[in-house]
Amino acid sequence: MKVLVAGGAGYIGTHTCVELIQAGYEVIIADNLCNSKMDAVYRTEQIIGQKIPFYLVNISVKSEIEPVFMENKIDGIIHFAGLKAVGESVEQPIEYYQNNLNCTLMLCEMMKKYNVKKMVFSSSATVYGDNEVPFTEDMPLLPATNPYGESKVIGERILQDFIVAHPDYAVSLLRYFNPIGAHESGLIGEDPEGIPSNLMPYISQVASGKLSKLKIFGNDYPTSDGTGVRDYIHVVDLAKGHVKAIEQLEKNAGVYIYNLGTGRGTSVLELVTTFEKVNQVKVPYQIVGRRAGDIAECYAGVEKAKNELCWAAEKNVEDMCRDTWRWQCYSIK
Ligand code: NAD
Ligand code: UDP
Repeated sequence: MKVLVAGGAGYIGTHTCVELIQAGYEVIIADNLCNSKMDAVYRTEQIIGQKIPFYLVNISVKSEIEPVFMENKIDGIIHFAGLKAVGESVEQPIEYYQNNLNCTLMLCEMMKKYNVKKMVFSSSATVYGDNEVPFTEDMPLLPATNPYGESKVIGERILQDFIVAHPDYAVSLLRYFNPIGAHESGLIGEDPEGIPSNLMPYISQVASGKLSKLKIFGNDYPTSDGTGVRDYIHVVDLAKGHVKAIEQLEKNAGVYIYNLGTGRGTSVLELVTTFEKVNQVKVPYQIVGRRAGDIAECYAGVEKAKNELCWAAEKNVEDMCRDTWRWQCYSIK
């Protein structure tokens, strides 16, 4: 089966390419490198020991993406292409809606025209808003508090409507919790531009001395130690979830929705302490006020993915901290 990995040069995309190829899938990447580097693709090729066909294209532009479908008999798509910075999406809502929705719409158009019946879509736990934990797939979605989150809610809706009109097609909506960590080779991982807005890359840059101190956003939440709780999932476990999802779509039609998380919440302070312990480093921090838009607690209900996808996360927070640090020390310039 030939899989087009849209946005495949990115953080989750590169890890997923490794798992797909190791599971026997043929992979093609389409990416415009707006938030990634060609080096990540070369490093992915180094891990798997083979070349990956790569198209430098804007997926939302028909004249750029259509040749990929004309030149290849694509059987399924894994759709990672999108902009993902929550804060930036508040400042640039139109760019976020335009890019994220147009990529999804254009891929649907290509699926119809080229008879590609399978798509796995990157959604996010952000679609649950501030629901009761654990978040389960049957919960009604709450309006997102930022354009990025809303682009995921709308993206899910577009794909559900697409399947109503094309019931012989199949779509999997995967709601990721907080992906962190890196491939254990140390060759690929997350390398955000500028000052990171997410916790793990920030911790890792403080530990390396690149940043001086972590700011912990609030210690007055109703959680065990007052700091925010999230469900951190190792990016390699997440990547394996995509292989299970595409396998499921090979045999079925319709819409499938799954949380990809561990089911376990970790507080900011627990993550900092674990990082320090497993890597024998110091992460100086100071407590500051809450960050606007943050919720207290977020973790996944994982039963549905376990029962229907036969997938469960295997790596723990120690693994995530160790692998992030290896990547930070050996690969980030
Ligand atoms: P990433 O930015 O590393 O990867 C996304 C890739 O898409 C990048 O390589 C970028 O260059 C590419 N891209 C964006 N717009 C494009 C366009 N118009 N044409 C071609 N390529 C384009 O992000 P990631 O962390 O790997 O996330 C992948 C997907 O998962 C995104 O859709 C993101 O919203 C979603 N997601 C990520 C997280 C997370 O915390 N990383 C959590 C939930 C959901
Ligand atoms: N966080 C923090 N300092 C930072 C970045 C994040 O204290 O510099 C906290 C944040 O308030 C939240 C948790 O870490 O409780 C995870 O934040 P992240 O931005 O990584 O993920 P998200 O909020 O999108 O789940």
